[in-house]
Amino acid sequence: MAHPKTLIEFMELYPTEDACRQVIFEHRWPDGFVCPRCGHQRAWYLRARGLYECACCHHQGSLTAGTILARTRTDLRTWFLAIWLLASTKKAPSAAELSRQLGVTAKTAWLMRRKVTHAMARRRGEPRLRGIVELDEGFLVAGGCERRVAGAASATRRWSPSRRSTLPAAAWAAPTCSW
Ligand SMILES: [Zn+2]
Repeated sequence: MAHPKTLIEFMELYPTEDACRQVIFEHRWPDGFVCPRCGHQRAWYLRARGLYECACCHHQGSLTAGTILARTRTDLRTWFLAIWLLASTKKAPSAAELSRQLGVTAKTAWLMRRKVTHAMARRRGEPRLRGIVELDEGFLVAGGCERRVAGAASATRRWSPSRRSTLPAAAWAAPTCSW
């Protein structure tokens, strides 16, 4: 599965909110869910609150904790598209353009753009991004929090054809502050 080169491909790869959530889940827990508190391997997804709850100790955590998507009220799919637009176009769209394309408010677009471009700017020395698949977990971490879960994907790992999900960064996933 190639990374999305076109909007059509993007829509095919990430057709729904659940698909996006699954991508993040697989990056965060490539070998399946593991409770950060007790190590249990089963969890429920609390859809209404967007949290995972450990089936054993009932610890609750967010899939996006520690990433630039943390505590967002914007759909994951909208974020995916924003990142794709900002990372894969030669001239990154302005906040106003992003607002139009994503159908979000100007303020939300500005905040999303700032978070994504800030994360991108942190990869100094990297060649120009060729696509969202090259975003790695360090990339999408919220500012100031770079701790990583033990055994999490390497910050430098890139997408390869053998990986099931392509998109964003091995980790909007791995790094975590609040878990
Ligand atoms: Zn637990």
